[in-house]
This record gives sequence, structure tokens and C-alpha cells, in this order.
Amino acid sequence: MRKIQEGDHMANRAIIYRLYPTASQKLLLTKTFGCCRFVYNRLLSVQQERYKNGEKHLSRTHANNFCNRQLKPAYPFLREVDKFALTNAIYHLEDGYQRFFKHLGNFPKYKSKRKAAKAYTTNSTNGNIKIGEQYIKLPKLGRVKAKIHRKPKDDWLLKSATVREFGDGTYQVSVLFEYEETPVSPVPVTEEQVIGLDYKSAGLYVDSNGKCQNMPGYFRMAQKELAKRQRKLRHKVPGSRNYRKQQKRIARVYRHISNQRKDYLHKLSTATAKQYAYVCVEDLNMRSLSNKGFGNGKATLDNGYGMFLFMLDYKLAEHGGKLVKVDKFFPSSQICHCCGCRNPEVRDLRIREWICPDCGAVHDRDTNAAINIRTEGMRLLAA
Ligand SMILES: [Zn+2]
Repeated sequence: MRKIQEGDHMANRAIIYRLYPTASQKLLLTKTFGCCRFVYNRLLSVQQERYKNGEKHLSRTHANNFCNRQLKPAYPFLREVDKFALTNAIYHLEDGYQRFFKHLGNFPKYKSKRKAAKAYTTNSTNGNIKIGEQYIKLPKLGRVKAKIHRKPKDDWLLKSATVREFGDGTYQVSVLFEYEETPVSPVPVTEEQVIGLDYKSAGLYVDSNGKCQNMPGYFRMAQKELAKRQRKLRHKVPGSRNYRKQQKRIARVYRHISNQRKDYLHKLSTATAKQYAYVCVEDLNMRSLSNKGFGNGKATLDNGYGMFLFMLDYKLAEHGGKLVKVDKFFPSSQICHCCGCRNPEVRDLRIREWICPDCGAVHDRDTNAAINIRTEGMRLLAA
């Protein structure tokens, strides 16, 4: 997970750690999630009320002041939790409003207790967040037991931390760092450094060497187990303690699948970025394939390719390479890669193999498309 910032050569990177809070820490976490939701919803109704009365929309700062001056005195329980979490919840609402004002998103919605994600973000100041040997220190919570599988580099600056609870009752913290990017000199574009990939909706892709890359069927493998657990759920009373327990067991299966997939995609993208510097792909509608799927649950199950490209993008850049995006209107499947003529009949998706009417070459639909994507990518790199 990484975001390049504008301006200087600063880059962001997050490390995710699994947390093992104690019972009292869990209680405080639940309170914090609840308070964030409370503040968010209150501010949303305040803003709506102001709009109805013809009053000006409160800015981020004013909304935060409102929370400190009006809400906190009226609801003292808000003072029990991390103050940055509340501020960030308010900023989050404001971001939603700004997207809405710019017609980039829907009107912000109220967060429901049952459906809303259990998460909050806190900021780093004066060493209030620290990564220890087997713990992470967080504001208000103190030391929370954690699995420290990786440490940040010495020159990474800790910016913020986002704590999450998942449906299966597990916790994680995503710690965000900022660091100065050391510029990598670009790898020269040579034949063996470039590969083309053609997206395959059922699997992952077919590459320009004719290799077909599928996603292992983790979901299919887990389906039996999932069906068994869901059957058990039907025999329990909705809302009861046992029902909720069973729901967690189901969520655990989903999270396991999601972790397996992420792990697989990380290995595949690392290997690809080691072998090639330039990977050419079609610029598909990445909104639907976006990296939303870093969370848990069913939504992640369908966008393996989008997640793969996201990982590939930054891994290639780290090695001085690049993910080259070819225009989505480029007719990659219709061009014969041998003679360059165009065969519009191939538009029909049912045609898996075809013979070029001009030069007589026999083409596998996907491999031919991948080769054309690679050729077009090389043209773009040379330009
Ligand atoms: Zn041809």
C-alpha cells in the first residue's frame, strides 16, 4: 500500500501489523469506534440542519471546533477516547462532502452501528505511537501486543496509524510512514525487459510469451467449509450469542481466503517485477478493479487483477521500471501481430483462435492481444 505525494520526492508506505489487544483494550477500541461514528453522524446532521436553515457549511476547522466546544462538554464520554480519532472522523466526513461538492461522490451517509467499518485513524505527535519489540504503543491504549514481522527503515517517518477490527474479531493496525524517495535511474528499454499482459476476466492474464496466469481457486477450495458453516448458522437464533459466534467463524473463512489471495499476488508481482522492468497492460476501468480490496470480505474476491496491477506499479517503479498503460481503445485483439493488418471479425469474443486473412498466421486470441499490447507499450516508451 503506497501513495506517492505531490511535490518533493516523498513517498508513503504502510506496514500492517496484527494486534492482540487485552480485554480492557478491546473495550476501549469498541468505545473509540463508537465515538467516531457518533461524532461523524452528529456533524452530518448539524451540516444538514445548517443547510436547511440557509447557514454556511462548516469548514473542517470549524466542524472540529464545534466538536471540541459543543459536543465534548455535552457528551463527556467523548473525552475518554483518542482525540485524533475524533478529528479524523470529522475530516473524513468533510472529505466526503468535498467529493460530493465536486460531483465525485454521493452525499455522505450516516454510519450505522451494525454495518459501518470498525476503524479509526490516529496521528503521530511526540512519539505517541511507537513500534516496540512485540508491541505497538498507541494513544490512550498504551502498549498493545502485536506481531512485529517487519520494522520500518530508520529514516522512515511515522505519520499515522489506522486500527481496524474485522468481522471475525481480529484486529490490525496499518501504520503509515513517509520517507524521501531515492531517485532510481530508469532501466534501458530492451526487448527482454518488456512484457505485455492481456487481462482475462476468468483468471488473471495471458502474457506475450503465451503463458496463461490463473488465480488459484482459493474461494472454490474453501466453499465446502463455508457452506458447512453457513448451514450451522441457519440453525441458530438470529441475534443470539451463538449466532454472532458463528458469524465470526464465517468471517474468518472469508478473511483467510482474502489473505491467501493477497499473499499469492504479492509473490507473483514481486517475481514479475524482478524479471521485467516494463510491463505493458491495457488501461482498463480501474475504478471497478481498484485497490478497495485490501480490507476483508467478499468484495475482494473478484478484483485480483486490479490488486495485482496496483502492486506491480510500485514494485516496478522501485526498480527503475514502469507499468505502461495502453489506451483501452487500442484494438489489441484485432491486429495481427505478424503483418499488422486488422481483422474486425475478431471483435466477437467467442473467437478464441483465428487465421490472419492477409498473411495466414494462426493466432491464439489472448496471446496475440498480449503481443500487440507489448508492441504498443514499446512504442509509447520510445515516444
Ligand atoms: Zn497477418
